[in-house]
Amino acid sequence: MAGSARRPAGDPRRERRTAEGKAILVSLPAGGCGAGAPASAPPCDRCEARCCRYFALEIDRPVTPEDHEKVRWYLVHEGTSVWVDEGRWFLEMRNACRHLGADSACRIYENRPRICREYGAPPSPDRCEFFEEDLAFDLRFDDAEAFDAWSREVLRMRERRLRGRREARARRAGRPTEAIA
Ligand code: SF4
Ligand code: SF4
Repeated sequence: MAGSARRPAGDPRRERRTAEGKAILVSLPAGGCGAGAPASAPPCDRCEARCCRYFALEIDRPVTPEDHEKVRWYLVHEGTSVWVDEGRWFLEMRNACRHLGADSACRIYENRPRICREYGAPPSPDRCEFFEEDLAFDLRFDDAEAFDAWSREVLRMRERRLRGRREARARRAGRPTEAIA
């Protein structure tokens, strides 16, 4: 995919009062749905900004050995995972947003990217990961070793299929099939 990421929805800034009663502006939880947000909005004020700590990009499904090598290369890097959701492949990079404060608040709330505003908020049919404790992936690889085991088997099956096709073609053409590797 070009770019998919997980992000929040929006609402205005709010105030917090210090013990002295002095009003200070604070940045909202990164998602920042805040008071007045629709009930169906994600509860960003109860979340530690999970969606601001990584992003994920859609990638092509690996088919050839070269494609598999590329996925392996992604996975030798720290903080990466590759997962498959409803047949679509994603590369996840756990790299927190540079505007996320230590208090899990967005430091550029008023100017945060649109994808942050829209993530998980109506009318989007997708819920954010706050609600998805048990993320169910079709497949998930958190390191190259895990991918290797799967990859070897898939490539073996692919090679068998290709060989079957080559043999069928040779038979149709009246050529011997023994020499086909
Ligand atoms: S994961 Fe959901 S609830 Fe948490 S900050 Fe992101 S949009 Fe808000
Ligand atoms: S700009 Fe960064 S901290 Fe702010 S909502 Fe977006 S991802 Fe989170």
